[in-house]
Amino acid sequence: MNTREIEKLVAQYPLVQRLIGLEEVTWFNPNTVTLQQGLPYVGLTQKEVDEAEARLGRFASYLCQAFPETQKMNGIIESEVVEIPAMQGALAARYGQTIAGRVWLKKDSHLPISGSIKARGGIYEVLTHAEKLALEAGMLSVDDDYSIMNTDRFRQFFSQYSIAVGSTGNLGMSIGIMSAKLGFSVSVHMSADAREWKKRKLREHGVNVVEYAQDYGVAVAQGRVQASSDPRCFFIDDENSKTLFLGYAVAGGRLKKQFEQMNIVVDKNHPLFVYLPCGVGGGPGGVAFGLKLAFGDDVHCIFAEPTHSPCMLLGVHTGLHDHIAVQDLGIDNVTAADGLAVGRASGFVGRAMERLLDGFYTLSDSEMYSLLALLANEENIQLEPSALAGMAGPARVCAHQHYLDSQKIGLEQLNNATHLVWATGGGMVPAEEMANYIAAAKS
Ligand SMILES: *Cc1c(COP(=O)(O)O)cnc(C)c1O
Repeated sequence: MNTREIEKLVAQYPLVQRLIGLEEVTWFNPNTVTLQQGLPYVGLTQKEVDEAEARLGRFASYLCQAFPETQKMNGIIESEVVEIPAMQGALAARYGQTIAGRVWLKKDSHLPISGSIKARGGIYEVLTHAEKLALEAGMLSVDDDYSIMNTDRFRQFFSQYSIAVGSTGNLGMSIGIMSAKLGFSVSVHMSADAREWKKRKLREHGVNVVEYAQDYGVAVAQGRVQASSDPRCFFIDDENSKTLFLGYAVAGGRLKKQFEQMNIVVDKNHPLFVYLPCGVGGGPGGVAFGLKLAFGDDVHCIFAEPTHSPCMLLGVHTGLHDHIAVQDLGIDNVTAADGLAVGRASGFVGRAMERLLDGFYTLSDSEMYSLLALLANEENIQLEPSALAGMAGPARVCAHQHYLDSQKIGLEQLNNATHLVWATGGGMVPAEEMANYIAAAKS
C-alpha cells in the first residue's frame, strides 16, 4: 500500500490510524447478528462438529496407548476450567475497573500431548488424514478398535506418507508430535520467532524442523511449495483448513457439559463472555463457532491480539480480510507472543465468523508479560505470553457501557456473568524459559 492508499483507508476507518500508532484499542463489532442469521455464512454445521467429536472418540483408545498421559481422560484431549478469584481482584485493581461477574480460566495451556490450544485442531487434522489413508487402504474400518494403529504394521504404512506444516511454534508441536507418533515423515517449517526449545523438542521426536529467517507467512508459503512437489505429502493449511476449524469447534459442546457439571448457568440472564487470543484465526474462530453452536446468543466471543499483529481486527474492521496485512500499514508483526505473530488473518475464518464475534482488542507485549507475572503470582499458574492476551478482556468489556447496552446486558446480567479467559498455551514451557518471562515482566 502506498501513502495515499493508507490515507484513504484511515479516512474511512479512523481506528486504523490507532492500529498504526500501536495503541491498545478495543472495538466492539456493530455488525453482529443472531446465531440463526449468522450460521449460513459459516458454511459448516453442528452435524460436522458432531462428526469431528465422533472421530476423536474413535481415536481415544489409540491415544490412550500412544500417549499414556491421556489415560486419565480416557483418551479424550480436554482441559480443565478453574476459577481465578485472586486474579480477578488483581485485574480490577490493575485496570481500576470493577469486574462484575466471575472470572474463570480455560486451561488449554495444559492440554496433553502438546500443551496448547493446537492440541485440538492440529491433532484432529492429523488423525483425520491418518484415518482416511488407512480406510482407503482397507487396513481399518470405523468399527475397529483404533488402538491397532499403535503397531509397527501401521507405522510402516504411514511412513510412506509425509505431512508438512508452517508454524510459529505450537501448531508445529501438535502436528509434529502427533504425525511422528503415527509413523509419518513430518516436516515443520518454522518462522524466525519460534522458540528454540520448541524446535529442540520436535527434533527429539524425530521431526524434520526447517527454519526460516522470516515470519510465519514465509514459513507457510515455503512449506506449501515443498509439499506441492510431492504427491504423498499432505500440507496442513492453517490459513484455510476447515478440518482444523472443526477440531477446535468440538470445544464448544464439551465446555457446555463441563459447565453443566459445575452448575455454571449460561442463559439470557447469565451471559458468558469468552476471551480468545487470535493469531491467524483458526483456533479462536473454530472455538467461537463451537461455543456459538453450544450456547447460542448467550455467549459473547471477543478476540485479543498483540498491538504489533492486529491482523484479524484489521481484516474484519475494514472488511478487507486476507486482502490486507499489518505490514501493508508499516506495522512490524514483531511480538513475543509467538502464537499470535501473524500479519495476515485467515480470510476463511474472518468471512465465516465476522457476524458472530462481538469484539476485538489489542494489548502490548509488556502488558502480556505483566499479566503473566501477575497470574503466576496470584494463582500460581504458568502460561506463555500469548496465552495472557485474553486476560485483559473482562475489564475491557465491563468498561464499555455502550457495548453492554447494545447487547441488552444490564447490571443484573453483568453481575451474573461468567468471564472465561482462554489460556491457549504454556503448559510445556521449560522452567528456565518461564523464569525469563517473569524477569521480562519485571524489567
Ligand atoms: C496458535 C495460538 C493461538 C491462536 O490460534 P490461531 O489459530 O493462530 O488464531 C493463540 N495462542 C497460542 C498459544 C497459540 O499457539
